[in-house]
Amino acid sequence: MSKVRVRFAPSPTGMLHIGSARTALFNYLFAKSKGGKYLLRIEDTDLARSSKEAVAEILASMKWLGLVADEAPLYQAQRVARHKEVVKQLLTAGKAYYCYATKAELDELRASAIAKKQRFKYDNRWRDRDISEAPEGVEPVVRIKAPLTGITEFNDLVQGNIKIKNEEIEDFIILRSDGTPTYMLAVVVDDIDMQISHIIRGDDHLTNTPKQIILYNALNYAYPEFAHIPLIYGSDGKKMSKRHGATAVSEYIDLGYLPEAMRNYLLRLGFAHGDAEIISDENAVKWFDFSKVGKSPARFDFKKLDNLNAHYLTNKDNDALMKYLCQEYPDLSKLEQERILALLAEIKVRAKNLVELRQDVLFLRENFKPQNNLTEKAKKALEESAAHQTKLIAFYQEINDFSHDNLYEQTKFFAEQHDIKLKHIAGFLRAKITASHISPSIFMIMEVLTKAETLRRLA
Ligand code: GLU
Repeated sequence: MSKVRVRFAPSPTGMLHIGSARTALFNYLFAKSKGGKYLLRIEDTDLARSSKEAVAEILASMKWLGLVADEAPLYQAQRVARHKEVVKQLLTAGKAYYCYATKAELDELRASAIAKKQRFKYDNRWRDRDISEAPEGVEPVVRIKAPLTGITEFNDLVQGNIKIKNEEIEDFIILRSDGTPTYMLAVVVDDIDMQISHIIRGDDHLTNTPKQIILYNALNYAYPEFAHIPLIYGSDGKKMSKRHGATAVSEYIDLGYLPEAMRNYLLRLGFAHGDAEIISDENAVKWFDFSKVGKSPARFDFKKLDNLNAHYLTNKDNDALMKYLCQEYPDLSKLEQERILALLAEIKVRAKNLVELRQDVLFLRENFKPQNNLTEKAKKALEESAAHQTKLIAFYQEINDFSHDNLYEQTKFFAEQHDIKLKHIAGFLRAKITASHISPSIFMIMEVLTKAETLRRLA
């Protein structure tokens, strides 16, 4: 049995960013490619900034993306007692200590570092002092005894060999003076308890890793493998933000993207398998490997996402789309459903997303009033064909066989006889029947709507 266990560990402080979604996806694909487990940990220890709504949104986004965890999610805030217990162990083992340095003292240290143009670093003043010297009225923090010399080194699966001189790492805080464990401590304790084998996260966490390795060492646990994946940038090479467009997964849901297109696109952002653009879920699992993940930030390209979305929409089966449309329009009548189903193959190839699809079936509704919904181009088409309208209506009244092929042949013949351009006839029919100037074959639409409904709309 595979021992691979990975976790996606979002902080529920806002909407789930697509960069985080990609981190989740890489975790998921790696786990599945190794026959391992993909887990979810909600890092909600920052009580002031975390919210229930954000948790719900993360869970909904994960479900939508199809990245459902293999075990129930773990909530970090519920594990505070365990985190404190580990702090106590470290204190007892002499690997951590109480630090009573006051804010004023630390401010002074910081000011003198700035004056000397040095990086501020806590000076270990309580590292070897006896607790009997503790000043009164100061609530201490707990700091880890970080190694003073040597290097901390690890081999990142994406970034390669990473080394840092221990003298650059201070005795960092693991328990705050208000008794709450820090992020650094909680992450390590949770990853140990969850038996995480690989930590896959954004490279903004790269600088935390040496500190976390120091904690693993202090706790006598082998540290897991690490893979730090580059962040997502906008088209201008700056960190992806609102300025570039939608950043939250939920916004992409609202914009009508399909989860499979989103998965494919997020995978392609920073991962390459030859020059494959369309990567099925099956191949994603088969091909996923960190050797194929780039080290430099990927740029988000909305056009590529749109193209992928159109591709997946075109290939999506009609039943699934019908189900979606019935959810969006719960009052769809049986007749409307039949009309939509008859034309869905034609309609879906023209839509770039579900919002367009929803829009593009409206003309098939029974209460649709083309004359109230005319686009500018449709109005123009009506003007251009004004001289022929009466003739055309009379002509279609005479046709009994409303099959696509017959309508097409007869219309072509009529156009030649009356010296009218076929495109003017089609423009007139489209405007009158669909209120638009683009649609699937208008003769196919007339066949589906039947003669009675067509004539009603033409009149
Ligand atoms: N909660 C952290 C974040 O949202 C992730 C921590 C981790 O993956 O180790 O960025």
